[in-house]
Amino acid sequence: MKVTVSEEWLNACSGCEIAIVDMGERLLDVLALVDFVHIPVLMDHKYLGQKGDGQHISLPEADVGIISGSIRNTEHLEVAREMRRRCKLIIALGTCATHGGIPSLANSFDNAAILDRYYNTETTDKPEAIPDQGIPALLDACYALDEKIAVDLYLPGCPPHSDQVFNALAALLDGKTPNLPGKSVCDTCPTRREGKGRLTALRRFLQAPRYRNDEPIDRMRCLLEQGILCMGPVTRAGCGGDQVVPRCVSARVPCRGCYGPVRQDGDQMLDMLNALASNGVDIESLPETASMLRFSGAHHRLRPRT
Ligand code: SF4
Ligand code: SF4
Ligand code: SF4
Repeated sequence: MKVTVSEEWLNACSGCEIAIVDMGERLLDVLALVDFVHIPVLMDHKYLGQKGDGQHISLPEADVGIISGSIRNTEHLEVAREMRRRCKLIIALGTCATHGGIPSLANSFDNAAILDRYYNTETTDKPEAIPDQGIPALLDACYALDEKIAVDLYLPGCPPHSDQVFNALAALLDGKTPNLPGKSVCDTCPTRREGKGRLTALRRFLQAPRYRNDEPIDRMRCLLEQGILCMGPVTRAGCGGDQVVPRCVSARVPCRGCYGPVRQDGDQMLDMLNALASNGVDIESLPETASMLRFSGAHHRLRPRT
């Protein structure tokens, strides 16, 4: 009998769903073993019954529930709770689901400030009243999935590498628990580390790293040692998939931390500040550093100022 799978996207961009499709021909192997009973990115689903007159969201039962995206409004919360009720196992897919991700960058501001900015400052249209009818109410902040419902398996990444999605599904279908890398991005990075001297200052955000186009990646010096803020030391490995080499660094771009902390409950921002401070970098003198570090998967820990 096939394993039934239900997939939902909450406060999400659909990049995680593309990671599923990116499995390519391996998707055919997966589809031979599973039945998608609900997946709104591909199939229409009437959440409130065929006539739309139901009072509560209703989803089908499934063996496995995959959820991408964070929880930002009352509809996301209701869908997440219904998925938890209907699915035997819940997988948080992507860093929005595992840690809040990019949408939780807005957690530095309260809802009034966010709506004011959106409707009253960044538009060429005449400001209208902020809509509050017929749409789900915002929660007070953006939440990672496990802050609202129990999660059984975490697959971080923005988006997760399709190799990891496939390996995790293959392990589950085989009755095994998927293994996630317990290392940092640096542990899988082939760049040249000299460790000479100590990093005392960071270069400006837009400055390009030094490397030669015709040289392989293992000839390029570590970006952090070049003074470029690279979050590899505090970010979970895995983004290179089966090829291992970190995706951004292989394109000569510093890691921005999209896989979240090395440990699920770690705090990337604090860990990175510690790493920089222990190298003698004066964080206060570099205002850009703080804003760069905000792009971290651990950002959901910030809550609106009261
Ligand atoms: S984790 Fe990244 S790819 Fe996935 S929904 Fe969030 S922003 Fe999109
Ligand atoms: S800091 Fe960045 S460039 Fe240096 S080893 Fe770590 S991931 Fe690679
Ligand atoms: S190098 Fe860092 S930011 Fe880039 S894909 Fe990997 S974990 Fe994400």
